[in-house]
Amino acid sequence: MIWLFLLAAIAAFLALAYLEARAWVWTLAVGAGLIALASAVDLSALATNVLLWGFIAFAAILNVRPLRRLLISDRILGVFRKVMPPMSQTEADAINAGTVWWDGELFSGRPNWDELLAFPRPRLSAEEQAFLDGETEELCRMADDWSTYATGDLPPHVWQYLKDKGFLGMIIPKEYGGKGFSAYAHSQVVTKLATRCSAAAVSVMVPNSLGPAELLLHYGTEQQKRHYLPRLGKGLEIPCFALTNPHAGSDAAAIPDQGIVCKGTWEGKEVLGMRVTWDKRYITLGPVATLLGLAFRLYDPDRLLADKEDVGITCALVPTNHPGVHTGRRHFPLNATFQNGPTSGKDVFMPLDWIIGGPAMAGQGWRMLMECLAAGRSISLPSSNVGNSKLAVRATGAYARVRSQFKTPIGKFEGIEEALTRMGANLYMMDAARRMTAVGIDLGEKPSVISAIVKYHVTERNRRVVNDAMDIQGGKGICLGPNNFMGRAYQQIPISITVEGANILTRSLIIFGQGAIRCHPYVLKEMRAAREPDRTKASQEFDHALWGHIRFTLTNAVRALIMGLTGSHWIGVALNAAPENRRYFQQLTRFSAMFAFLTDVSMVVLGGGLKRREKLSARLGDILSLMYLASATLKRYEDEGRQKADKPLLDWAIWDAMYKAQNAFEGVISNYPSRPVAWLLRRCLFPLGRPYVVPSDRLGHEVAKLLIEPSASRDRLTAGMYLTKGETDIIGKYVAKLLAGKGSQRTGGDGRLMQSLVKAGYIEDR
Ligand SMILES: Cc1cc2nc3c(=O)[nH]c(=O)nc-3n(C[C@H](O)[C@H](O)[C@H](O)COP(=O)(O)OP(=O)(O)OC[C@H]3O[C@@H](n4cnc5c(N)ncnc54)[C@H](O)[C@@H]3O)c2cc1C
Repeated sequence: MIWLFLLAAIAAFLALAYLEARAWVWTLAVGAGLIALASAVDLSALATNVLLWGFIAFAAILNVRPLRRLLISDRILGVFRKVMPPMSQTEADAINAGTVWWDGELFSGRPNWDELLAFPRPRLSAEEQAFLDGETEELCRMADDWSTYATGDLPPHVWQYLKDKGFLGMIIPKEYGGKGFSAYAHSQVVTKLATRCSAAAVSVMVPNSLGPAELLLHYGTEQQKRHYLPRLGKGLEIPCFALTNPHAGSDAAAIPDQGIVCKGTWEGKEVLGMRVTWDKRYITLGPVATLLGLAFRLYDPDRLLADKEDVGITCALVPTNHPGVHTGRRHFPLNATFQNGPTSGKDVFMPLDWIIGGPAMAGQGWRMLMECLAAGRSISLPSSNVGNSKLAVRATGAYARVRSQFKTPIGKFEGIEEALTRMGANLYMMDAARRMTAVGIDLGEKPSVISAIVKYHVTERNRRVVNDAMDIQGGKGICLGPNNFMGRAYQQIPISITVEGANILTRSLIIFGQGAIRCHPYVLKEMRAAREPDRTKASQEFDHALWGHIRFTLTNAVRALIMGLTGSHWIGVALNAAPENRRYFQQLTRFSAMFAFLTDVSMVVLGGGLKRREKLSARLGDILSLMYLASATLKRYEDEGRQKADKPLLDWAIWDAMYKAQNAFEGVISNYPSRPVAWLLRRCLFPLGRPYVVPSDRLGHEVAKLLIEPSASRDRLTAGMYLTKGETDIIGKYVAKLLAGKGSQRTGGDGRLMQSLVKAGYIEDR
């Protein structure tokens, strides 16, 4: 009887925890259990009394909030305040910046897949499509990587074209003279340019990313907007934004550049202004900029502007022809030909009106930068890196078909096939993430954590794709020249890895560090309550968050265990999801519950120390990121009308992501500082062992086939890239060179090789 009772009690516990039951339901269940026990077993009077009073205490603590706060929550609040790591204002600004979007669902343990599938499909307006097919296509025709490298810059007529056609003002609304494009359109333009000319892509993406235009739009005074935005939109000003100092790169808030509030003469009158000294390096477009966005720390020792000496980081707009602004000698970043260089100034006097947003925004610069970072970081590098990968996949797939060794096209060798498979599936997933993130921005989100995820993972996957492409091309990829379409991209990869948050830092510190606080349903509420000076309010808010958090942790522990035991087969998924992807949704739900539980345990066990344990934090961030990439990939499949022919790309990418996520879980667990906790975690998260395996070779073969044969799948995979027309540009010249070489003999003559190249997609058949 006792065993039966115990079994029933465990089942009831699991069911209530699984269903995230409320306190009163727990109370009723425990009460009913005790009544059942008392009627089934002959209890002594003492035992009955202990159980009765125990139950009354349990019910009171769980349901009478003032009592619960007094006895439990306030005590935990006291401990929490002591262990909570100190947070500087700059850290707080970074954490609070932006919005939580799909990342919040992934932290919830039960993502709402209907919500994912209800996000709109990425679409271009007729005007945006015309700009892509017209001006962007033309710009691609005008400039390519090799010719800009040979001349060291975009030719003057290309610069003029960029300015005249509004490429530099895509994010500026029409009312201010810009193009007012959506984030998705902006992303499509950068992607296309990056398939052709990195200098053009970077020169277009920087003015449309975090910089003068973006900052003016959000914080500029009306006068500043009316003056500068139309000029930026028409390309009458070339902007740059200077934050990095030789002594402060990743730790940008520590910039030593400074301004001192003082009086000085401006346009013949004495005005309140600032004397600014700066030394910046690596500034993109710096050498050609006419308008310098400048970040420095403002001090007011004589209290002329503020009531404190250290006013804080401030952003100003400085015309580069202002006396004292020194534009240094151009850098040459890994042979890239976009403009990049240092800028400096010493005690340069400028009026306070040059502060973006005017004197009222003095000291608000860091907050402004953090709030605006997400949009640009979500678009620029993800788009340009997807562009690189599209070029790599299309051209290398074709090359693997036309290049023969051992009397066999190299694409038929399993070794090459393996690399081609990675390239195709990586691109499918990278592009899915780029598209979905752009849609998020268009929905009004400023997804700071997601922007870090896509920045890191798209650039890292592009590094992998380009490396694979280089390996497949052998010597063709190594010797630079007009016929080498990959070497320049290969050289420049470290630039994407380093800028907009260097990748090691982004993975180790930002993705999970910020995500755990921002996206977790309770942690930020607990932290805010702990910082609340009003004791009663703090107690009430902390109590509310704490008990929600306990319920949340318990439910995720039980759900992870049960889904692990059952393979999550019966988990409900989105009503509209493609039936062939049902299992993926179910498995991702399991990953989400596992991740939520592991996050909570890690925060309790490691506390503030988690911030220093970057290797664990990085792996936790990888799990979150892989869930985001997999979500975007499933969404892409739906958005593109469930193309069955593309299914191998999706399957390989998702299996690979699940396998990597499983390894990241294992990496956290096996390095856990507490062995008993690690043991428990392993039993709870992988009760039947680790089920995910690498994608099969057979599946890989299906993916590789898509890359070396002309097909609608390959066209979808590389959609939006610039396709070479005729033999007058790089790929065309490459074709001509191949025609003159051994390749033509092997394939039985120029005509047949040309046909096979056309079929393979090197050149358009016109
Ligand atoms: C081509 C190019 C263009 C650029 N354009 C601009 C621009 O327009 N405007 C501008 O202001 N800046 C620009 N930058 C600067 C860029 O943002 C910085 O290079 C970047 O912030 C990294 O700083 P750093 O180079 O000083 O490297 P460091 O900060 O010295 O970093 C070195 C390494 O340490 C790692 N690291 C640092 N801190 C941590 C940590 N806590 N945990 C783990 N790892 C850590 C980093 O990930 C990196 O791998 C550009 C740079 C380049 C190369």
